Amino acid sequence: MRHLVWFRTDFRVADNPALYDAAADGAEVTAVYVDCPGQWQDHGKSAMQRDFLSRNLQALNEQLAQLGIALTVLTADRFVEVPALLAEWVEARGFDALYANREIGIDERRRDKAVQQTLTMPCRVYNGDCVVDHGSLTTRSGDMYKVFTPFAKSWLARVGASGYRLLPAPAALGEPLSCEPLSLSGERVSSEAWPAGEAAAAQRLTQFCQRSLRDYGERRDFPAEDGTSSLSPYLALGILSPNQCLAAIEAELEQLPFSRGEPGFVWLNELIWRDFYRHLLVAFPRLSMGRAFKPDTEALQWSRDDDGFRAWCAGQTGYPIVDAAMRCLKQTGWMHNRLRMIVASFLTKDLHIDWRRGEAWFMARLIDGELAANNGGWQWAAGTGADAAPYFRVFNPTTQGERFDAEGDFIRRWLPELAEVPARVIHAPHDWMDTHQPGHSYPKPMVDHARARLHAIAMFDALKDREAV
Ligand SMILES: Cc1cc2nc3c(=O)[nH]c(=O)nc-3n(C[C@H](O)[C@H](O)[C@H](O)COP(=O)(O)OP(=O)(O)OC[C@H]3O[C@@H](n4cnc5c(N)ncnc54)[C@H](O)[C@@H]3O)c2cc1C
Repeated sequence: MRHLVWFRTDFRVADNPALYDAAADGAEVTAVYVDCPGQWQDHGKSAMQRDFLSRNLQALNEQLAQLGIALTVLTADRFVEVPALLAEWVEARGFDALYANREIGIDERRRDKAVQQTLTMPCRVYNGDCVVDHGSLTTRSGDMYKVFTPFAKSWLARVGASGYRLLPAPAALGEPLSCEPLSLSGERVSSEAWPAGEAAAAQRLTQFCQRSLRDYGERRDFPAEDGTSSLSPYLALGILSPNQCLAAIEAELEQLPFSRGEPGFVWLNELIWRDFYRHLLVAFPRLSMGRAFKPDTEALQWSRDDDGFRAWCAGQTGYPIVDAAMRCLKQTGWMHNRLRMIVASFLTKDLHIDWRRGEAWFMARLIDGELAANNGGWQWAAGTGADAAPYFRVFNPTTQGERFDAEGDFIRRWLPELAEVPARVIHAPHDWMDTHQPGHSYPKPMVDHARARLHAIAMFDALKDREAV
């Protein structure tokens, strides 16, 4: 038997269900990756993630070669060209079946459907990206959960009862192959700060579990600390699987924490959020199409303030925690979760700018950009999403800074112009700077938060009035 494994966002050989099944029963296995640079651009993904992807493709190539599996990279500009390209390549080589792990965006699903309709051989598709398979957790009426807590309860019950499946890498299928270096074309920004390959991801995972899993709940909200795992770039490209994260929790704690208050539960809960947003994306295709989860919020009257948007992007809003976070994103391609929430709230509820603009800016910069979590996070902050922050809850950027960066360490790291400002005034530094550093260049707060908050609430109240008409 000759099997073809089509790699997509699953750059790993361990716990890879498609690869594992393809290699079972002694079949001969070949691997293919189809690069679509035009589609990458259409999806607004970042040049840093493209660099990371390219480096991880090479790492995968080397891993596969060790197993005796050759990887070929094909190029089609966009997904629509993939079915014909694959069909031509595949039919000439006489494979018996195609194996792949599911991708969940609507364009990816349409592409896969077209591929299945075009190829004459069986296509076997697996869940390789969630602990619990998409669509398998439903309410009593058979629908996808729209609220996180009952979803999480159901997720925990399922994993508690059935466990999770963790697959080893397949055994070598032959002598190691030599492999040529692979590199993707197109715009790239260096991702060298993040070591490539599944061994690097596994090492980071183990280190995190040993050092930080137990006190993650206490430390995760402070951006100046190294309290979170920084595994998101690896999870986003499937260099690491969520099942491997569960296995690492178990290895560290000897069991999975199934209830709030147990050590490690808070981190597990984040992995459940990850599954939740991915399940939502599958159940509600409109989320892949730039549409709000709550249809009524499509009528929100967002501001078209381009200058405001530019100031937010550049980290020049006059709110230090927002500006430090945005400059960190620009320079590193990564941002701490607490800061993502603060800057997303600021854009949508202080500047009243459409969440879609923020979502796109993030996607174009993040090394861990991925549609489900990014869209979920933005719609949560904007108040348009599933289980979103209530519309009247508007983050106060000053008190958030005081609470989560009390000494201003994170702010000073990214805003050199505030290097001399004492901690007690760093979250509202203007008066101090006017006195001690006249002529400084740090901007005044671009909005009055209290007024901006009222305006945000009024925007949502206006929706209720529409309903009442
Ligand atoms: C506005 C906004 C945009 C976001 N965009 C993305 C994105 O494009 N890609 C992305 O991976 N995450 C995104 N997140 C979620 C979260 O901020 C990141 O996953 C997290 O900061 C990554 O850091 P970490 O790996 O140290 O996470 P940890 O705290 O160590 O968590 C472990 C893993 O759980 C998952 N996770 C954690 N929090 C969330 C969450 N709220 N939703 C979904 N999954 C979560 C991630 O895969 C993460 O790597 C976004 C959040 C917000 C508020």
